[in-house]
Amino acid sequence: MDPKQLTIDSVRSAIQQRKTTAIALVESHYERIQKEDSAIGAFLTLTKERAMEQAERIDRMAVEGKPLPPLGGVPVGIKDVMCTRGVRTTAGSKILENFVPPYNCTAVARLEAAGAVVLGKMNCDEFAMGSSNENSAYHPVRNPRDTSRVPGGSSGGSAAAVAADMAVVTLGSDTGGSIRQPASFCGVVGLMPTYGRVSRYGLIAFASSLDHIGPLAKNVKDAATVLKTIAGRDPMDTTSADVPVPDYVAELEKAVSGLKIGVAKEYFGDGLDAEVRRATEDAIESLAKLGCEVIPVSLPHSEYAIPAYYIVATAEASSNLARFDGVRYGYRAKNARTLSDLYRRSRDEGFGAEVKRRIMLGTYALSAGYYDAYYLKAQKVRTLLTRDFDEAFKKVDAIVTPTSPTAAFKLGEKANDPLAMYLADIYTVTADLAGIPGISIPCGETKEKLPIGLQILGKHFDEATILRLGHAYERQRN
Ligand code: GLN
Repeated sequence: MDPKQLTIDSVRSAIQQRKTTAIALVESHYERIQKEDSAIGAFLTLTKERAMEQAERIDRMAVEGKPLPPLGGVPVGIKDVMCTRGVRTTAGSKILENFVPPYNCTAVARLEAAGAVVLGKMNCDEFAMGSSNENSAYHPVRNPRDTSRVPGGSSGGSAAAVAADMAVVTLGSDTGGSIRQPASFCGVVGLMPTYGRVSRYGLIAFASSLDHIGPLAKNVKDAATVLKTIAGRDPMDTTSADVPVPDYVAELEKAVSGLKIGVAKEYFGDGLDAEVRRATEDAIESLAKLGCEVIPVSLPHSEYAIPAYYIVATAEASSNLARFDGVRYGYRAKNARTLSDLYRRSRDEGFGAEVKRRIMLGTYALSAGYYDAYYLKAQKVRTLLTRDFDEAFKKVDAIVTPTSPTAAFKLGEKANDPLAMYLADIYTVTADLAGIPGISIPCGETKEKLPIGLQILGKHFDEATILRLGHAYERQRN
C-alpha cells in the first residue's frame, strides 16, 4: 500500500479483507521510519514489541473473521508527554530521560483498546513549551516539506510524522496552539477539542487549565474518528466532562449550507503574512460558495491574549514542575551535599533554558505582592476573552481565522528571541484560554511551497460543527 494513501478506513478495511496484515504494516512503517526519520527526527522512542503484540492481536481477529475495532491495525504515534506503561516517557526533557511510567494515559489506552498500533513516542518541545520543536532536550524536528525549516511546536514530531507518512495519525497536546500550529506548518489536520472533552489523565502537565489532548491526521475524517475514540468522561480526571460524545464521523455528512461563519478583524491585523492572509480569505470565500453565511464579528480583547497566556501558563507550569525535585522520580544530581543542594542541582541540570525561564516567570507572577498585579489580572483578561467568544457565538456557528501569522520559519530564526517565538501562537492561544475547540486544516501553500493552515474555532463542546465545516472545505478543495 502507498504510505501516502493510508487512512484509518483504508488501513482497517485492507486488514479486515486480508489484503494486507497489521504486522506487514507495522514492518513497512518501521522501514520507512528507518529511512526517513534520520533527516526529520520525529521519533524519540520506538515501541516495536508493543506494536507487534497489538498487530498480532488484530491479525488474529481478521483471520477469525471478527469485525475489527474502529482503529484496528492503524499505526499511530504518541507525543512523548503522554504516559505509556513500560515505555519511557520523557516529555522532551532530560529530567525524565529514564522515566518509565507504571500506567497508561487514558487517551492512549482508549486508542489501543480501539485497535490502534503504537509505533513510538514523538519528539516535542521540552514539557510542551515552544512553537518550533527546537526546545526538545534531544534533537530538533525538521519540517518534512523543507528540512531547513521547523515543523512548528510543541507537537512537532506528531505533525512531522503524519506529514512524512511515518504514522497514519498521532496524538498531540495543545496548551497555547501546540496541535494546530504544527499541523499548519506541516500541512496536516490538527484538532484541539474543548477543554474537558478528552481526559488529561496520564498527560504530563504543563498548564493544567489549558492542556488539551487531540489528534493530528491526514484528513478531517481521521481526526473525527480519533476524537470519538478518546473523548468522554474518565473517572481518573475530575475535569473531564460528562457530556455525551456525538458520532463525529456521521455528523460530517450533514450539509454546511446555512451555517454562519464569523470573521474577526482582530485576526487579520499587523504581522499577518500577505500570502497567509490571501489563502485564508480564499478559504472563507470557498466556505461562502458552499452556502455558509459570512458575518463580521469582533473579539476586542484579542490583543491581550498572548500576555495573559504567558502569565497563566507560566504560573501553572511553575507549580506543576515543582514535583521534579530529584527525589521522587526523574533525574537526580550526583554528589549533592544537602537536600536543597539536591533540589537545586537536579533541577538545574535536568531542565532546559526555556523551562527554567517559564518557572522563573511563573514563580514571579505568583509571588506575594505581585499576585494581584499579574496572575489575578491575567485571569480577569481570560474572562474577558471568553466573553468575547460568548458574544460572537451568539451570532455565528464558527469563527474562521488563519492558524498562524506565517508559514514555517527556518531553524534558528527565532530560537534566540523568545518574544518573537511567543507570537507564533497569537491566533491560537485565545481558544485555549477560552476552552473552546479549534481545528487547523491545510488551505494553501506559499510561493515556496510551504503549507498554510486555516483555523476554525467552535462553541464549547461543538467539535461536530468545526469538523463538519473542515470536512466540507477539504472535500471541495481536493
Ligand atoms: N507555543 C506555546 C508555548 O510555548 C504553546 C505551547 C503548547 O501549546 N503546548 O507555551
